[in-house]
Amino acid sequence: MSEFTPRDTGQHRPTCRPRRPTRSVQVGRVQIGGLAPVAVQSMTCTRTHDVEGTLGQIRELASAGADLVRVTVNDEAAAAALPAIVREANVPLVADIHYDHKMALAALAAGIAKLRINPGNIGGEDKVREVARAAKDRGVPIRVGVNRGSLHKRYRDLRMIDPAGALVQSALDELEVLASVGFDDVVVSLKSSEPHEVIEACRRFSEVCDVPQHLGVTEAGTLHAGTARSTATLGVLLSEGIGDTLRISLAADPVHEVRAAFHMLQALGLREGYARVVACPTCGRVEVDVMSLAAKVEELAKDLPPDKVISVMGCIVNGPGEAKSADLGIAAGKSKVAIYRQGELHRNIDKEDLEAVLLEEIARLRR
Ligand code: SF4
Repeated sequence: MSEFTPRDTGQHRPTCRPRRPTRSVQVGRVQIGGLAPVAVQSMTCTRTHDVEGTLGQIRELASAGADLVRVTVNDEAAAAALPAIVREANVPLVADIHYDHKMALAALAAGIAKLRINPGNIGGEDKVREVARAAKDRGVPIRVGVNRGSLHKRYRDLRMIDPAGALVQSALDELEVLASVGFDDVVVSLKSSEPHEVIEACRRFSEVCDVPQHLGVTEAGTLHAGTARSTATLGVLLSEGIGDTLRISLAADPVHEVRAAFHMLQALGLREGYARVVACPTCGRVEVDVMSLAAKVEELAKDLPPDKVISVMGCIVNGPGEAKSADLGIAAGKSKVAIYRQGELHRNIDKEDLEAVLLEEIARLRR
């Protein structure tokens, strides 16, 4: 699989307000905040102690464009596997820690680039301070990952009357604990499965604190429902200039998380992602199988330069028109398929030759 290298557009389209400035945090080679491009994250779903399986998935996510990949460090076997995974991984890794602060210490010793701790379940403040001191010694940042589903019990009353406020207060209190040992190399996430709570919490946090924000809707759902729920929520925040890094959390192959994130950021003009495939939605006039053709083209085109446009149109109604603004256009007719290059009719081919011609034409765009 070829490597996908996302590029930053460096520009904001009028639909997005300027990014809100946040402090800069360095995670290995990736900068978060400080107006750096919004970093895309995903998380492995392998057992971390399975070194080969976990590395395989990390590489797939990196090929799809993930800037950072998170792995769970949930037991001693996972911690023991981490040094080999860190050594071989081709992107900076984030260790996901719950309940046992010793796993955070082990992840730091393994050379992890960032820690994610959950203030609702990491234990007492003394444990958080111990982790912060060790992270500071190694120059490793920490994400304070607050989740509505695992808020510390001290915020439960507040959660009943002000769920977004409970998320914000939990994060601010944890930042204070970290600051008590001079640790400020932090990122914050305020997650809920309720979009309006995420939006409100992130807005309120950005008004009172310049710590970079990791955006996400937790437990968003399956491929289609989760993508819609996440992009609807994150799109609001990003268009207001809020958000420095993000994960689209899906109950699906995590490669879809990365692809959905880039499509969203590209639509908002915040990052360049993949070459764009324009495909008609099909109707009773359709002359070729546009659905499978467009999916195939999307797969073939994912390593093309992101400014390329390919249109796949099922008939001549809109086909020639769309092809005019595409680098490569396909418009199906009754017996032949018209192939356009840079808006000009290039040739008419037989339908049975379409797949072979597509391969050839897309390879030409790669050159
Ligand atoms: S381009 Fe043709 S086949 Fe596709 S939706 Fe439009 S009219 Fe239907």
